[in-house]
Amino acid sequence: MKPTDTLWREYSGHIHFHTTYSDGSGSFEEVVRAAQEARLDFIIPTDHNALVPEPDGWRGSVLLLVGEEVNDKEREPEVNHLLVAGIEREVFHYAKEPQALIDAVAAQGGLSFLAHPIERHSRYFSKEFPWVDWNVQGYDGIELWNFMSECKAYISSKLAGLLLSFRPQLFARGPWPEVLALWDRLTTHRPVVAIGGSDNHAGAYHIGPLARQAFPYAFAFRTVNTHILTPEPFNGDLSHDREQVYGALRAGHCWVGYDLLGSTAGFRFHGSQGRGDGQAAIMGDTRPAGQPLELEAFVPRRAKLRLLRNGQPIAQTWGRRLRHTADGPGVYRLEAYRWAWGRWRGWIFSNPIYVRDAQAP
Ligand SMILES: [Zn+2]
Ligand SMILES: [Zn+2]
Repeated sequence: MKPTDTLWREYSGHIHFHTTYSDGSGSFEEVVRAAQEARLDFIIPTDHNALVPEPDGWRGSVLLLVGEEVNDKEREPEVNHLLVAGIEREVFHYAKEPQALIDAVAAQGGLSFLAHPIERHSRYFSKEFPWVDWNVQGYDGIELWNFMSECKAYISSKLAGLLLSFRPQLFARGPWPEVLALWDRLTTHRPVVAIGGSDNHAGAYHIGPLARQAFPYAFAFRTVNTHILTPEPFNGDLSHDREQVYGALRAGHCWVGYDLLGSTAGFRFHGSQGRGDGQAAIMGDTRPAGQPLELEAFVPRRAKLRLLRNGQPIAQTWGRRLRHTADGPGVYRLEAYRWAWGRWRGWIFSNPIYVRDAQAP
Protein backbone atom coordinates (compact mmCIF):
# COMPACT_ATOMS: atom_id res chain seq x y z
CA MET A 1 0.00 0.00 0.00
CA LYS A 2 1.20 3.47 -0.81
CA PRO A 3 1.46 5.87 2.12
CA THR A 4 -1.22 8.10 0.66
CA ASP A 5 -3.61 5.19 0.36
CA THR A 6 -3.58 4.65 4.08
CA LEU A 7 -3.48 8.28 5.17
CA TRP A 8 -6.40 9.63 3.17
CA ARG A 9 -10.07 8.72 3.22
CA GLU A 10 -12.08 8.97 0.06
CA TYR A 11 -15.66 10.15 -0.39
CA SER A 12 -17.74 10.82 -3.47
CA GLY A 13 -20.14 13.68 -3.77
CA HIS A 14 -22.28 15.64 -6.14
CA ILE A 15 -22.14 19.41 -6.31
CA HIS A 16 -24.38 21.72 -8.32
CA PHE A 17 -27.97 20.72 -8.91
CA HIS A 18 -31.33 22.34 -8.37
CA THR A 19 -34.40 21.38 -6.33
CA THR A 20 -37.95 22.66 -5.91
CA TYR A 21 -36.51 25.59 -3.93
CA SER A 22 -35.59 27.03 -7.33
CA ASP A 23 -36.20 25.56 -10.80
CA GLY A 24 -35.53 21.88 -10.15
CA SER A 25 -38.34 19.34 -10.03
CA GLY A 26 -37.24 17.32 -6.98
CA SER A 27 -37.73 18.03 -3.28
CA PHE A 28 -34.87 17.67 -0.81
CA GLU A 29 -36.36 14.32 0.24
CA GLU A 30 -36.26 13.11 -3.36
CA VAL A 31 -32.69 14.22 -4.00
CA VAL A 32 -31.50 12.63 -0.77
CA ARG A 33 -33.17 9.36 -1.80
CA ALA A 34 -31.55 9.59 -5.23
CA ALA A 35 -28.14 10.25 -3.66
CA GLN A 36 -28.56 7.20 -1.45
CA GLU A 37 -29.50 5.15 -4.49
CA ALA A 38 -26.38 6.41 -6.31
CA ARG A 39 -24.32 5.58 -3.19
CA LEU A 40 -22.95 9.08 -2.81
CA ASP A 41 -21.41 10.18 0.48
CA PHE A 42 -22.30 13.87 0.28
CA ILE A 43 -24.38 16.25 -1.83
CA ILE A 44 -24.31 20.02 -2.16
CA PRO A 45 -27.54 21.32 -3.73
CA THR A 46 -27.13 24.83 -5.15
CA ASP A 47 -30.48 26.45 -5.71
CA HIS A 48 -30.59 29.74 -7.61
CA ASN A 49 -30.25 32.83 -5.45
CA ALA A 50 -31.66 31.16 -2.38
CA LEU A 51 -29.90 29.96 0.72
CA VAL A 52 -32.69 27.52 1.37
CA PRO A 53 -34.12 26.95 4.85
CA GLU A 54 -32.88 23.38 5.19
CA PRO A 55 -30.28 22.49 7.77
CA ASP A 56 -26.98 20.87 6.89
CA GLY A 57 -26.80 17.37 8.28
CA TRP A 58 -26.72 13.66 7.83
CA ARG A 59 -29.77 12.30 6.03
CA GLY A 60 -29.31 8.58 6.45
CA SER A 61 -26.09 7.65 4.67
CA VAL A 62 -25.77 10.99 2.88
CA LEU A 63 -24.24 14.19 4.23
CA LEU A 64 -26.32 17.10 2.95
CA LEU A 65 -24.56 20.47 2.81
CA VAL A 66 -26.59 23.37 1.51
CA GLY A 67 -24.96 25.55 -1.14
CA GLU A 68 -26.27 28.20 -3.49
CA GLU A 69 -25.80 29.39 -7.08
CA VAL A 70 -25.78 33.17 -7.19
CA ASN A 71 -26.14 35.50 -10.14
CA ASP A 72 -27.51 38.96 -10.92
CA LYS A 73 -31.00 38.19 -12.24
CA GLU A 74 -31.46 41.72 -13.57
CA ARG A 75 -28.42 41.50 -15.80
CA GLU A 76 -29.16 40.54 -19.41
CA PRO A 77 -27.88 38.03 -20.34
CA GLU A 78 -27.59 36.45 -16.91
CA VAL A 79 -23.86 35.77 -16.91
CA ASN A 80 -21.48 35.18 -13.96
CA HIS A 81 -23.01 32.28 -12.04
CA LEU A 82 -21.14 31.63 -8.79
CA LEU A 83 -21.46 28.38 -6.85
CA VAL A 84 -21.04 28.99 -3.14
CA ALA A 85 -20.94 26.69 -0.14
CA GLY A 86 -20.15 26.88 3.53
CA ILE A 87 -21.99 30.13 4.24
CA GLU A 88 -24.60 30.82 6.90
CA ARG A 89 -25.85 34.22 5.81
CA GLU A 90 -27.41 35.05 2.45
CA VAL A 91 -25.09 36.74 -0.06
CA PHE A 92 -27.19 37.13 -3.20
CA HIS A 93 -27.62 40.87 -2.61
CA TYR A 94 -23.93 41.14 -3.63
CA ALA A 95 -24.67 39.53 -7.00
CA LYS A 96 -24.34 42.76 -8.99
CA GLU A 97 -20.67 42.98 -7.99
CA PRO A 98 -18.98 39.61 -8.54
CA GLN A 99 -15.88 40.63 -6.60
CA ALA A 100 -17.93 41.83 -3.64
CA LEU A 101 -19.87 38.57 -3.79
CA ILE A 102 -16.71 36.44 -3.77
CA ASP A 103 -15.32 38.55 -0.90
CA ALA A 104 -18.57 38.22 1.08
CA VAL A 105 -18.43 34.43 0.75
CA ALA A 106 -14.76 34.35 1.79
CA ALA A 107 -15.52 36.61 4.78
CA GLN A 108 -17.89 33.92 6.06
CA GLY A 109 -15.24 31.25 5.56
CA GLY A 110 -17.19 29.89 2.59
CA LEU A 111 -16.14 28.52 -0.77
CA SER A 112 -16.80 29.88 -4.24
CA PHE A 113 -16.49 28.33 -7.69
CA LEU A 114 -17.15 29.93 -11.07
CA ALA A 115 -19.97 27.83 -12.59
CA HIS A 116 -19.90 26.75 -16.26
CA PRO A 117 -17.22 29.39 -16.95
CA ILE A 118 -17.45 28.91 -20.73
CA GLU A 119 -20.65 27.79 -22.47
CA ARG A 120 -21.00 26.78 -26.08
CA HIS A 121 -23.83 28.02 -28.19
CA SER A 122 -26.75 25.67 -28.82
CA ARG A 123 -29.35 26.26 -31.50
CA TYR A 124 -32.02 24.98 -29.15
CA PHE A 125 -31.10 26.95 -26.03
CA SER A 126 -30.79 30.55 -27.07
CA LYS A 127 -29.11 31.70 -23.88
CA GLU A 128 -25.64 31.11 -22.52
CA PHE A 129 -24.45 31.90 -19.02
CA PRO A 130 -20.65 32.03 -19.07
CA TRP A 131 -18.44 33.80 -16.58
CA VAL A 132 -17.38 37.11 -18.14
CA ASP A 133 -15.84 39.17 -15.34
CA TRP A 134 -12.27 37.86 -15.42
CA ASN A 135 -10.82 40.55 -13.18
CA VAL A 136 -12.18 38.82 -10.09
CA GLN A 137 -9.78 37.34 -7.57
CA GLY A 138 -9.96 35.20 -4.50
CA TYR A 139 -12.43 32.54 -5.66
CA ASP A 140 -11.55 28.95 -4.80
CA GLY A 141 -11.98 27.34 -8.17
CA ILE A 142 -13.99 26.67 -11.28
CA GLU A 143 -16.52 24.12 -12.39
CA LEU A 144 -14.38 22.26 -14.90
CA TRP A 145 -17.13 19.99 -16.22
CA ASN A 146 -20.83 20.82 -16.09
CA PHE A 147 -22.67 17.83 -17.55
CA MET A 148 -25.82 19.72 -18.50
CA SER A 149 -23.98 22.71 -19.92
CA GLU A 150 -22.04 20.34 -22.15
CA CYS A 151 -25.02 18.23 -23.22
CA LYS A 152 -27.30 21.10 -24.10
CA ALA A 153 -24.72 22.42 -26.57
CA TYR A 154 -25.12 19.25 -28.66
CA ILE A 155 -28.79 19.84 -29.21
CA SER A 156 -29.12 21.03 -32.78
CA SER A 157 -32.57 19.63 -33.55
CA LYS A 158 -35.69 18.31 -31.88
CA LEU A 159 -34.55 14.78 -32.65
CA ALA A 160 -31.14 15.37 -31.05
CA GLY A 161 -32.94 16.80 -28.02
CA LEU A 162 -35.13 13.75 -27.74
CA LEU A 163 -32.21 11.36 -28.09
CA LEU A 164 -30.24 13.36 -25.56
CA SER A 165 -33.07 13.18 -23.05
CA PHE A 166 -32.97 9.37 -23.31
CA ARG A 167 -29.25 8.76 -23.69
CA PRO A 168 -27.12 11.76 -22.68
CA GLN A 169 -24.15 9.40 -22.33
CA LEU A 170 -24.04 9.13 -26.13
CA PHE A 171 -23.25 12.84 -26.22
CA ALA A 172 -21.12 13.71 -23.19
CA ARG A 173 -17.39 13.67 -23.90
CA GLY A 174 -15.69 15.66 -21.19
CA PRO A 175 -14.89 19.20 -20.16
CA TRP A 176 -14.72 21.61 -23.09
CA PRO A 177 -11.10 21.88 -24.29
CA GLU A 178 -11.40 25.65 -23.93
CA VAL A 179 -12.32 25.23 -20.23
CA LEU A 180 -9.33 22.95 -19.69
CA ALA A 181 -7.12 25.54 -21.41
CA LEU A 182 -8.63 28.32 -19.30
CA TRP A 183 -7.97 26.33 -16.13
CA ASP A 184 -4.38 25.68 -17.19
CA ARG A 185 -3.89 29.42 -17.68
CA LEU A 186 -5.40 30.25 -14.30
CA THR A 187 -3.28 27.71 -12.42
CA THR A 188 -0.03 29.21 -13.72
CA HIS A 189 -0.66 32.08 -11.28
CA ARG A 190 -2.11 30.31 -8.25
CA PRO A 191 -3.87 27.07 -7.31
CA VAL A 192 -7.39 27.00 -8.73
CA VAL A 193 -9.51 24.03 -7.70
CA ALA A 194 -11.53 22.12 -10.29
CA ILE A 195 -14.87 20.59 -9.38
CA GLY A 196 -17.53 18.95 -11.55
CA GLY A 197 -21.29 18.64 -11.41
CA SER A 198 -24.43 17.94 -13.37
CA ASP A 199 -26.42 21.18 -12.93
CA ASN A 200 -29.37 18.83 -12.93
CA HIS A 201 -32.92 20.13 -12.82
CA ALA A 202 -34.63 16.80 -13.49
CA GLY A 203 -37.35 17.71 -15.87
CA ALA A 204 -37.24 21.48 -15.86
CA TYR A 205 -36.04 21.23 -19.44
CA HIS A 206 -38.56 20.94 -22.20
CA ILE A 207 -37.03 18.73 -24.82
CA GLY A 208 -39.83 17.13 -26.73
CA PRO A 209 -42.84 15.41 -25.19
CA LEU A 210 -40.82 13.31 -22.75
CA ALA A 211 -39.02 16.21 -21.16
CA ARG A 212 -40.31 15.42 -17.69
CA GLN A 213 -38.65 12.03 -17.75
CA ALA A 214 -35.24 13.45 -18.68
CA PHE A 215 -32.31 13.25 -16.30
CA PRO A 216 -33.70 11.87 -13.05
CA TYR A 217 -31.52 12.80 -10.07
CA ALA A 218 -30.44 9.20 -9.49
CA PHE A 219 -29.04 9.20 -13.03
CA ALA A 220 -27.39 12.62 -12.75
CA PHE A 221 -25.72 11.56 -9.50
CA ARG A 222 -23.93 8.80 -11.42
CA THR A 223 -22.49 11.17 -14.01
CA VAL A 224 -19.98 13.93 -13.19
CA ASN A 225 -19.08 13.71 -9.52
CA THR A 226 -16.47 15.33 -7.33
CA HIS A 227 -14.44 12.87 -5.28
CA ILE A 228 -12.54 14.10 -2.25
CA LEU A 229 -9.66 12.88 -0.10
CA THR A 230 -9.89 13.76 3.59
CA PRO A 231 -7.34 13.41 6.39
CA GLU A 232 -9.93 11.98 8.79
CA PRO A 233 -12.92 9.70 8.30
CA PHE A 234 -16.43 11.01 8.75
CA ASN A 235 -17.54 10.36 12.33
CA GLY A 236 -21.15 11.52 12.28
CA ASP A 237 -20.41 14.84 13.93
CA LEU A 238 -21.74 17.48 11.55
CA SER A 239 -19.18 20.23 12.09
CA HIS A 240 -16.30 17.75 11.88
CA ASP A 241 -17.63 16.05 8.75
CA ARG A 242 -18.54 19.31 7.06
CA GLU A 243 -15.00 20.55 7.60
CA GLN A 244 -13.61 17.36 6.05
CA VAL A 245 -15.60 18.07 2.88
CA TYR A 246 -14.94 21.81 2.71
CA GLY A 247 -11.30 21.38 3.71
CA ALA A 248 -10.75 18.92 0.85
CA LEU A 249 -12.51 21.16 -1.67
CA ARG A 250 -10.61 24.23 -0.50
CA ALA A 251 -7.27 22.42 -0.77
CA GLY A 252 -8.02 20.83 -4.13
CA HIS A 253 -7.72 17.36 -2.63
CA CYS A 254 -10.26 16.15 -5.15
CA TRP A 255 -10.89 15.03 -8.70
CA VAL A 256 -13.67 15.20 -11.22
CA GLY A 257 -14.89 11.69 -12.03
CA TYR A 258 -17.38 10.70 -14.73
CA ASP A 259 -18.58 7.64 -12.85
CA LEU A 260 -20.99 6.57 -15.58
CA LEU A 261 -17.98 5.13 -17.46
CA GLY A 262 -17.06 3.03 -14.41
CA SER A 263 -16.63 4.14 -10.85
CA THR A 264 -13.60 6.38 -10.42
CA ALA A 265 -13.36 5.45 -6.72
CA GLY A 266 -9.82 4.40 -5.93
CA PHE A 267 -8.14 6.86 -8.27
CA ARG A 268 -4.92 8.27 -6.87
CA PHE A 269 -2.35 10.80 -8.08
CA HIS A 270 0.54 11.64 -5.84
CA GLY A 271 4.17 12.67 -5.89
CA SER A 272 7.08 11.94 -3.63
CA GLN A 273 10.51 13.55 -3.41
CA GLY A 274 12.12 10.28 -2.35
CA ARG A 275 13.11 8.91 1.03
CA GLY A 276 12.79 11.44 3.78
CA ASP A 277 9.75 13.02 2.12
CA GLY A 278 7.47 12.34 5.06
CA GLN A 279 4.18 12.49 3.26
CA ALA A 280 3.63 12.29 -0.46
CA ALA A 281 2.08 15.29 -2.18
CA ILE A 282 -1.49 14.68 -3.31
CA MET A 283 -3.73 16.60 -5.67
CA GLY A 284 -3.86 20.25 -4.66
CA ASP A 285 -0.53 20.22 -2.82
CA THR A 286 2.48 22.38 -3.66
CA ARG A 287 6.07 21.19 -3.46
CA PRO A 288 9.20 23.28 -3.90
CA ALA A 289 11.22 22.73 -7.05
CA GLY A 290 14.81 21.60 -6.67
CA GLN A 291 14.37 17.88 -6.14
CA PRO A 292 12.85 15.49 -8.66
CA LEU A 293 9.27 14.57 -7.84
CA GLU A 294 8.27 10.96 -8.52
CA LEU A 295 4.72 11.24 -9.77
CA GLU A 296 2.45 8.24 -9.81
CA ALA A 297 -1.14 7.85 -10.92
CA PHE A 298 -3.33 4.81 -10.39
CA VAL A 299 -6.78 4.29 -11.88
CA PRO A 300 -9.28 1.59 -10.86
CA ARG A 301 -9.83 0.39 -14.45
CA ARG A 302 -7.69 0.35 -17.55
CA ALA A 303 -7.76 3.67 -19.33
CA LYS A 304 -5.77 5.98 -21.52
CA LEU A 305 -3.75 8.04 -19.07
CA ARG A 306 -2.24 11.38 -19.87
CA LEU A 307 0.02 13.43 -17.64
CA LEU A 308 0.15 17.15 -18.38
CA ARG A 309 2.59 19.83 -17.31
CA ASN A 310 1.33 23.41 -17.66
CA GLY A 311 -1.39 22.09 -19.95
CA GLN A 312 0.97 20.20 -22.27
CA PRO A 313 0.98 16.38 -22.40
CA ILE A 314 4.35 15.00 -21.22
CA ALA A 315 3.56 11.31 -20.73
CA GLN A 316 0.88 8.93 -21.91
CA THR A 317 0.11 5.27 -21.38
CA TRP A 318 -2.67 2.71 -21.56
CA GLY A 319 -3.35 0.76 -18.40
CA ARG A 320 -3.91 1.34 -14.73
CA ARG A 321 -0.72 3.06 -13.69
CA LEU A 322 1.46 5.90 -14.91
CA ARG A 323 4.79 6.89 -13.43
CA HIS A 324 6.87 9.90 -14.34
CA THR A 325 9.70 11.83 -12.77
CA ALA A 326 9.01 15.54 -12.77
CA ASP A 327 12.27 17.42 -12.68
CA GLY A 328 11.23 21.02 -12.85
CA PRO A 329 8.64 23.50 -11.72
CA GLY A 330 5.22 23.18 -13.27
CA VAL A 331 1.57 22.39 -12.76
CA TYR A 332 1.17 18.62 -13.10
CA ARG A 333 -2.22 17.02 -13.56
CA LEU A 334 -3.63 13.79 -14.84
CA GLU A 335 -6.42 13.00 -17.30
CA ALA A 336 -7.90 9.56 -17.95
CA TYR A 337 -10.05 8.61 -20.93
CA ARG A 338 -12.11 5.47 -21.55
CA TRP A 339 -13.60 4.13 -24.74
CA ALA A 340 -17.38 4.07 -24.51
CA TRP A 341 -20.29 4.33 -26.93
CA GLY A 342 -18.05 4.60 -29.96
CA ARG A 343 -15.46 7.17 -28.86
CA TRP A 344 -12.95 8.19 -26.23
CA ARG A 345 -14.62 10.01 -23.39
CA GLY A 346 -13.22 11.92 -20.43
CA TRP A 347 -13.29 9.84 -17.27
CA ILE A 348 -11.01 11.39 -14.63
CA PHE A 349 -9.60 14.91 -14.30
CA SER A 350 -7.29 15.29 -11.33
CA ASN A 351 -6.53 18.49 -9.55
CA PRO A 352 -2.87 19.42 -10.06
CA ILE A 353 0.19 18.88 -7.98
CA TYR A 354 2.06 22.17 -8.09
CA VAL A 355 5.84 22.35 -8.21
CA ARG A 356 6.94 25.93 -7.72
CA ASP A 357 10.26 27.70 -7.48
CA ALA A 358 10.78 28.85 -3.91
CA GLN A 359 9.76 32.51 -3.87
CA ALA A 360 12.11 35.08 -2.40
CA PRO A 361 10.22 37.02 0.25
ZN1 LIG B 1 -25.79 28.33 -13.71
ZN1 LIG C 1 -27.08 25.58 -11.96
